[in-house]
Amino acid sequence: MPRFFVDGPPEGGVIRLRGEDAHHAGRVLRLRPGESVTLCDGRGTDYECTVETVSGDEVACRVQRSAASRTEPLQRLVLFMALPKADKMDFIVQKAVELGVSEIVPVLSKNCVSRPERTEKKVERWRRIAAEAAKQCGRGVLPAVRSVLPLKEAVGQAARCETALLLYENEQQTGLRAALAGGVGKTVSLLVGPEGGFAPEEAAAAQAAGLTSVSLGPRILRCETAPLAALAAVLYAGGNM
Ligand code: SAM
Repeated sequence: MPRFFVDGPPEGGVIRLRGEDAHHAGRVLRLRPGESVTLCDGRGTDYECTVETVSGDEVACRVQRSAASRTEPLQRLVLFMALPKADKMDFIVQKAVELGVSEIVPVLSKNCVSRPERTEKKVERWRRIAAEAAKQCGRGVLPAVRSVLPLKEAVGQAARCETALLLYENEQQTGLRAALAGGVGKTVSLLVGPEGGFAPEEAAAAQAAGLTSVSLGPRILRCETAPLAALAAVLYAGGNM
């Protein structure tokens, strides 16, 4: 069933698609009165609707019922991702959204090769990628992509999650499975390094702040592989798969 993110709640039982969404619904999908469509407020509520009228720049949809989105993970997942090179972040954002993250925080750490002076344009691009991915996979929440944070601030925010994990390539003691053996918290943070990994002092500071350093096994995963592998494992351990 076609799905669109909308800004506000129904007015008089009707939600109106306008602009690009109206064009897509009316011209591309050729929705006609009487057909069904799901409109999502991007904050976890889905509106099951019936198309009422279709005009060039507006599609009016009558709300039949509303319900909590069924497509969100049981936990709130936040990915703190050190800036990788080139356009790898585009890939990471898209896949992390499909895997159910609620928030992506780009991080600037010591070994980040990519150190853009101005990051607003990049963040805007990642927000567009996140919105498209959320629409494609049928998310109930529009994941947030935050502004770039220095590692220290990111660690402070990550530590506030009930399950706060540092994916550390040099971790020898604790595997992800052991770290999740006690269960998965309602909020989960994953801190992932760039191609050059974390400096020892960065890893030490993250652990001192309360993050659990975990290994994803004996192989060194690319910075675009590690977060996705960890997200999938956390989703599984958290009862989402
Ligand atoms: N430069 C590092 C090295 O050669 O050891 C590799 C860094 S890796 C490409 C990028 C990031 O992915 C790491 O900082 C870590 O967050 C995560 N990562 C990759 N492999 C991992 C593993 N086996 N265990 C835990 N984290 C891993």
